[in-house]
Amino acid sequence: MDELGFGNGLLSTLEPGLLERLAPRPRLVAIARGEVLIGHGQALDAVFFPVSGLIGILAETSDGEAVDSGLIGREGGVGIFEACGSRQFSAEAVVHVPGRAVRMAAAAYRQLFELSPNLRTAVHRYVEQCISETRQTLLCTVTHDMDAQLSRLILEALERGHLGDTLPLTQGTMARILGAQRSTISECLARLEREGVLARKRGALQVGDPAALEATACNCRAAIRVSNDAIWRSDEPSCEAVLAAE
Ligand SMILES: [Zn+2]
Repeated sequence: MDELGFGNGLLSTLEPGLLERLAPRPRLVAIARGEVLIGHGQALDAVFFPVSGLIGILAETSDGEAVDSGLIGREGGVGIFEACGSRQFSAEAVVHVPGRAVRMAAAAYRQLFELSPNLRTAVHRYVEQCISETRQTLLCTVTHDMDAQLSRLILEALERGHLGDTLPLTQGTMARILGAQRSTISECLARLEREGVLARKRGALQVGDPAALEATACNCRAAIRVSNDAIWRSDEPSCEAVLAAE
């Protein structure tokens, strides 16, 4: 396994030796909190594959209202759909949790996509996963209360970012992800804090009672897990299986 691909689910499926053939060669870069990796409406000249940290995708109205449409961690990639399509990014990719990512020129990524049947299979499944999760989140938004949605978000962000028990997401970011007022998020967090489920510490949440948080979270978590298991179930090795074997 090329060490560049180490730790990213999609790149971990690559046939050996392919990354070395790309020009320019992909690089492992640090990604800092608040850094905009791809700007709104920007022509896509690079794509990113996180190996740690979390990246949000922000959609904005012309008068500045913003919604964060999800968190991308080491299971996925940023800009990889658009790089093979319009080559424009219609949102903004911003780092919420710092870490590292493989930065790859968009042209090199298109070359890699052509060269690698394994990557094409993985990206097709990842597309399906993203669509399925978006559908479930829409359903969640209209059917589940904010305590349940927020608990789900915290648990899923911890898992996706491999962050243990501490989530360095701001209340503003959580509000944008859930399409809620920041004050509503603050009230929910205060309630969870009073119940001893978590503590707010210097811009981060520390989860002290994950079982209680799980009990508060909605059943969308289970629905997404079942869907993702079905998407990635195959005779071929899954991203997670490849990662686990490394
Ligand atoms: Zn839900």
